[in-house]
Amino acid sequence: MRGVRFLGDRRAVVETFPDPDPDLGEVVVEIRAAGLCGSDLHHYRAPAASGDVPTVIVGHEACGVVISVGDGVDESLLGSRVVVNHHYGCGTCPQCQAGSPKYCIRTHGTYGFSDNGADAEVMVARASALAPMPEALGFDEGALVACGTGTAFAALSRLQLTGGEVIAIFGQGPVGLSATLLASTMSAHVIAVDVVDERLELAGANGAYEVVDGRRGDAGAAVRALTSGHGADLTLDCSGTREGRSGAVASARIRGQVCFVGVGPPTDLDISEGIIGKELTCYGSWTFTSAGLSECMAFVSEREVPLASLITHRFPLELAEEAFSVFDGGRTGKCVLVPSF
Ligand SMILES: [Zn+2]
Ligand SMILES: [Zn+2]
Repeated sequence: MRGVRFLGDRRAVVETFPDPDPDLGEVVVEIRAAGLCGSDLHHYRAPAASGDVPTVIVGHEACGVVISVGDGVDESLLGSRVVVNHHYGCGTCPQCQAGSPKYCIRTHGTYGFSDNGADAEVMVARASALAPMPEALGFDEGALVACGTGTAFAALSRLQLTGGEVIAIFGQGPVGLSATLLASTMSAHVIAVDVVDERLELAGANGAYEVVDGRRGDAGAAVRALTSGHGADLTLDCSGTREGRSGAVASARIRGQVCFVGVGPPTDLDISEGIIGKELTCYGSWTFTSAGLSECMAFVSEREVPLASLITHRFPLELAEEAFSVFDGGRTGKCVLVPSF
């Protein structure tokens, strides 16, 4: 079978690997779609000798069909359409029991980073990492939910959107665009902020009521101007940049709520004036729980959220090198690898 590896310094290669067999408690998933994620780029861009280049098959947004099961796994899973949670754990510690294998205190691993991942024809996964897909959800949409959209949904859940709020969303990459589309489906009034024309256009086409071009000056001030000087009820930073994070704080209204979901470099924030002075409530949000993954799929499927409209590029697996290069250019919506293109 074929799979994608990074060599460092922005090189991605498709190589041939032995067909895997499932071990105790594992399954083999035939990949139908695998999403490219901003967190892949950190490893893609890493210098070859840096130690930041995974030695395994990359990709952590896996969606497909179970084609074989190992010992101890219910055979009825064969043929199931599934999304794979890229975090796995021991299954028995308090964090795993609470549905957060990402915080497993014993054997936390991540498909695509510590173990072979999704950018391949097939992948091995623990049966406990599988989330069954609703009938109406397509494989492309499943791949989106597997990380970016699931992460956006979890962040909006932290903010407890009830509908009718004004939310400013900084960064319109795959997570931010998902947040824009989901929040507008939840009846929030979305102000989308970015610095790339293509992404501002995508945000406007996917539910943003207003778009703010961060290149034109102070985005926080622009959001306040759009809200009669009050600021947004809720703000969400998906950019992970210093500008996005401080913009999220600066554009929140008095006693508003801010959620940080984009990962990036350490950032100076004016806590006295920015957070204490406005009595803000701040959250961090990191990926999702097992239950959150299923809740996101149910929401997308029941509300018929047109997630596929966030996808601007689909590539066959053998064009993985081109796919990562195009995605790395930063001007796309979601990019998806499709082994059986
Ligand atoms: Zn991801
Ligand atoms: Zn555990």
